[in-house]
Amino acid sequence: MRRGAGRLLVAGLLVLSAAWPAQAQAPATRLALNEDVAEGAASADGAATPALSGDAVLKDGIAPDEAAGASAVAGPIAAREARVVGDDARTRFIMDLSGPAAVSVFMLDEPYRVVVDLPEMHFELPAETGKTGKGLISAFRYGLISAGKSRIVLDATGPVAVDKAFVLPAEKGQPARVVVDLVRSTRTAFLETLRVSRDRLSEAQKAEAMPGPAPNDGKLRIVLDPGHGGIDSGAIAKSGTLEKHIVLAFAKQLREKLAANPRYEVIMTRTDDSFMPLRGRVQFARQKHADLFVSIHADSFSGADIRGATVYTLSERASDQMAASIAESENKSDILAGVDVPEDTDEVSDILIDLARRETKNFAVVFARNLIKELKPDVRLFKRPHQQAGFMVLKAPDVPSALVELGYLSNPDDEKLLTSPAWRDKTAVAIGRAIDEFFRSRVANMAASAPVTTSVGEP
Ligand code: ZN
Repeated sequence: MRRGAGRLLVAGLLVLSAAWPAQAQAPATRLALNEDVAEGAASADGAATPALSGDAVLKDGIAPDEAAGASAVAGPIAAREARVVGDDARTRFIMDLSGPAAVSVFMLDEPYRVVVDLPEMHFELPAETGKTGKGLISAFRYGLISAGKSRIVLDATGPVAVDKAFVLPAEKGQPARVVVDLVRSTRTAFLETLRVSRDRLSEAQKAEAMPGPAPNDGKLRIVLDPGHGGIDSGAIAKSGTLEKHIVLAFAKQLREKLAANPRYEVIMTRTDDSFMPLRGRVQFARQKHADLFVSIHADSFSGADIRGATVYTLSERASDQMAASIAESENKSDILAGVDVPEDTDEVSDILIDLARRETKNFAVVFARNLIKELKPDVRLFKRPHQQAGFMVLKAPDVPSALVELGYLSNPDDEKLLTSPAWRDKTAVAIGRAIDEFFRSRVANMAASAPVTTSVGEP
């Protein structure tokens, strides 16, 4: 992805109030356009957004009696089948559900996507589902996006409009269904829909909480960031092992080791199979006043000799083509998950921020060297173990950040190690030693050059 050029916009949000009641005679107007219900309805980013022009929604002719067979379902709803039908002019996406659910639909740009948000679902679909599409939909993904909320992301082949989006209750032996009808549109029309909601979104973002003052408790805060999660599985090994599960299990093991040190406060960006946008991870670290941010991955890269732990730090210039490709694929995480990526605010030229950023980068490099030194005796390293590239997740200007590829799931030998409890244990111990060493040297440096401080990271 071209950095800085990607302007991904959240488009009109179509909220369909389709929480069908248990009683019969549910009126057809339950499938309302969000002109009726969107006030206070939130998109994935917490922003209320206006409706798509979609007067056709009710025209789909869902008669009142079709709602009559619906009944309340206890527990999470299951999604069991999904399909795409139609052609390049009009394409329909259908997902069968075990019960009715409220859905909201919005669109994103660069690349063109249609996002369908639902309550938390159990996706029980065949593994190959969504790998290919039809007509205006080239592929789709689904998964948990945050606690209590699931998401389907449809990749569109070009500018599209949502003609209809609705939920059909179960009836006459047919399961409940989410139906999204897309029609071909023009870029101009698409952008106009996006423009309206972008204005709303930027208002919502202004209200984003800035970090408060750091607690003065003398603790060293370490944010562990298991990569991917939820709708974004990360790398997938030939055997089906998912990166998102490997890195979460590892991060928990590492957290346990670090928790033995009473000076550390260890916080994780995610503790379950949910997704967090890349920018959200950076913001999380800043808001927690992290003294160190460690993102944990186990990606794929083609080539039989590509294996071994690798430590990445931030640089606008990638060390080599491989580092550039890894960063590029990592930076696509938000696109996969159907998350809005605002324009890069990196270019702020403020001399103080520049200084902080440079200092932070230096600390990150020191940490990377510590890591490699401590991993070396116990853990197989990649031939060039310290690499640099433009990883979005490493961009906090004031938190030293590194990304560790524990190994590569594309390599079967690495996969064996990554799934071995003994290997994980010794690797977590080694990373723990590197973190200890990082803080030891940092505290010593600060004590030598600055007035007494109780917390590393404060001036
Ligand atoms: Zn990854």
